[in-house]
Amino acid sequence: MAILQATNVTKSYPQGDRLIEAVRGVSVSLVAGEFVAVVGPSGGGKSTLLHLCGAMDQPTNGEVRLEGQLLSALDDDQLTRVRRDRVGFVFQFFNLLPTLTVAQNIGLPLMLSGRSESEVVRRVTELSSRVGLSSRMEHYPQQLSGGEAQRAAIARAVVHKPVMVIADEPTGNLDSDNGASVLELLHELNERSSTAILLATHDTKVAETSHRVIEMRDGKVVAVGPPVIT
Ligand code: ADP
Repeated sequence: MAILQATNVTKSYPQGDRLIEAVRGVSVSLVAGEFVAVVGPSGGGKSTLLHLCGAMDQPTNGEVRLEGQLLSALDDDQLTRVRRDRVGFVFQFFNLLPTLTVAQNIGLPLMLSGRSESEVVRRVTELSSRVGLSSRMEHYPQQLSGGEAQRAAIARAVVHKPVMVIADEPTGNLDSDNGASVLELLHELNERSSTAILLATHDTKVAETSHRVIEMRDGKVVAVGPPVIT
């Protein structure tokens, strides 16, 4: 069964007396273990599509299903649960909470879903070593390098074992070495846990490592296929 099935989705935003069509009739599906890159110029609709696929926003038209469940049929509480339990999010600017330690940031999704303290500690310890941050657990986000912050954000995104990770320009704010290690980490998680990954990027080198590339322009898909290695 598909993890994600978005069919003919459209998203319009009113602007003055006209509508901006950020996404126009896009379909995309992911099965477990797939790593799909969404590429294309800025303003092409990548972030909007990722928001729709991650249940962060509802389409104007069309439908999105996660694990077969139609998102538009869910109420706000149910959507919150889907986002919290089934999906993990990684953003360009890490979005770690500055007043929490690295360990608390990573464990937050488990705390929010009411897991026991021992389970949170066990899982945070396991993941911190997997992302190479065991010695940084009691630090605060501002004490981390960009690469470390993104690795912490990735650990937080997968701590609750989501079926899909949405990553919006995850290497966009990193130098090439840190970008490469973050990308490697995403691939390792994708391969070891079969987590489906939907990743938006400007970087052709990042897209080249994916299983499938979706190119968007002006809100539409203009090409889909295996990555073209340059
Ligand atoms: P990308 O991620 O490819 O840069 P976006 O999805 O961010 O593209 O944006 C696509 C288009 O939708 C742009 O023209 C953008 O200005 C517009 N847009 C995105 N979000 C909003 C919003 N909340 N309100 C109005 N317009 C928006």
